[in-house]
Amino acid sequence: MEIKRLCPTCKRVYTDETLIYCLADGSLLEEVVKAYDVFDEERFVGSRATFVIDKDGIIHHVEQGASAIDPTGAYQACSAF
Ligand SMILES: [Zn+2]
Repeated sequence: MEIKRLCPTCKRVYTDETLIYCLADGSLLEEVVKAYDVFDEERFVGSRATFVIDKDGIIHHVEQGASAIDPTGAYQACSAF
């Protein structure tokens, strides 16, 4: 599984696991599942979620739980680009 890290300041997402700090602003990166509170500590897994991320790595839309199965919200968020 690819681990993605999120900048809590500018919301850019990085897939390079060796990065610890955001290249844009130097903030300490967090794992996406923990940063967006979709990590189930009891079961030690990420909950179902859909993120719409633009080409600059900025998150524009988050769908969480059972509604994340339906892609309608993600399609609508993508139509804004
Ligand atoms: Zn940043």
